Amino acid sequence: MEGAKHPVPGVDYPRTFHEFDEWFGTEANCREYVRRLRWPDGFVCLKCGVVGEAWVMSRDRFRCRSCEGETSLTAGTIFAETRKPLRTWFLAMWFVTSQKNGVSALGLQRVLGFVSYETAWTWLHKLRRAMVRPGRDALTGVVEVDETYVGGPEEGVRGRQTETKAIVVIAAEESGRGVGRIRLRRVIDVSGDSLIPFVREAVAPGSVVHTDGYSGLAKAGYEHHITVISRSAEMAHEVMPRVHIVAALLKRWLDGTHQGGVQHQHLDYYLDEFTFRFNRRHSRARGLLFYRLAQQSVVVGPAPYSVIIGGNQSAKPPAERV
Ligand SMILES: [Zn+2]
Repeated sequence: MEGAKHPVPGVDYPRTFHEFDEWFGTEANCREYVRRLRWPDGFVCLKCGVVGEAWVMSRDRFRCRSCEGETSLTAGTIFAETRKPLRTWFLAMWFVTSQKNGVSALGLQRVLGFVSYETAWTWLHKLRRAMVRPGRDALTGVVEVDETYVGGPEEGVRGRQTETKAIVVIAAEESGRGVGRIRLRRVIDVSGDSLIPFVREAVAPGSVVHTDGYSGLAKAGYEHHITVISRSAEMAHEVMPRVHIVAALLKRWLDGTHQGGVQHQHLDYYLDEFTFRFNRRHSRARGLLFYRLAQQSVVVGPAPYSVIIGGNQSAKPPAERV
């Protein structure tokens, strides 16, 4: 999306809750903000793609002057077909981004006063889908890559321990002695076939990739440093310190904020949320996170409840934990 490349605090996004409250006190204000984010250079027809001022049919319906097709303000955004006010969505986005660790579905349900836990759970899933930036920049420089295992035995699921843990590959940039940006992905196994497509997407060619033994990366265009380490935690900590830190923070976040209640089929979206937060953890302007989330919310497209659970009984929200 176009939009402000360097958004200005206090102009493009609110800096404080007080400012937020002033800006978004009415539905009209929220609609105007969505319109600006969505069509910064003027209305774009969803049907024919023509850019130019549309006829305003009602407060949230526009008719293209070229093809006469009608487009609603929220069609094609995560707010599509919502029965709740945009203002409530804005509040949700503010809560989600202003808390360092985000909120759980139960937390959101309470703060917004929703009767239904399922609604809060679904909203968070919709918002998570807006936390991935399409075409985001690849990691560069020196990058550590290793896998970790998350999740424990799930209720009602029997089987070996490995069947109830998900494997997550972590790529973490070196930044001095600390961690730069990260990328995460769930993989089905720890083979090169699972790893290399992830590295290709996450890490820019020409970067130095540190792993403990995958092959095939040099062929894929990377300078590859293999450090074979024993699988003791202490050694891993020394050789892959950044991956180790990220893995520990990820597990703490899943166990803390989400109380370990993340189903495997949804894990990818939690990984997106974790990455979204982690890569902006030094940002002192929380309003900027709100802005980025709002900006993405109008471009990623709707994800109705039926899509989120994908017709899968086990993908439904966990029972309320009060
Ligand atoms: Zn049109």
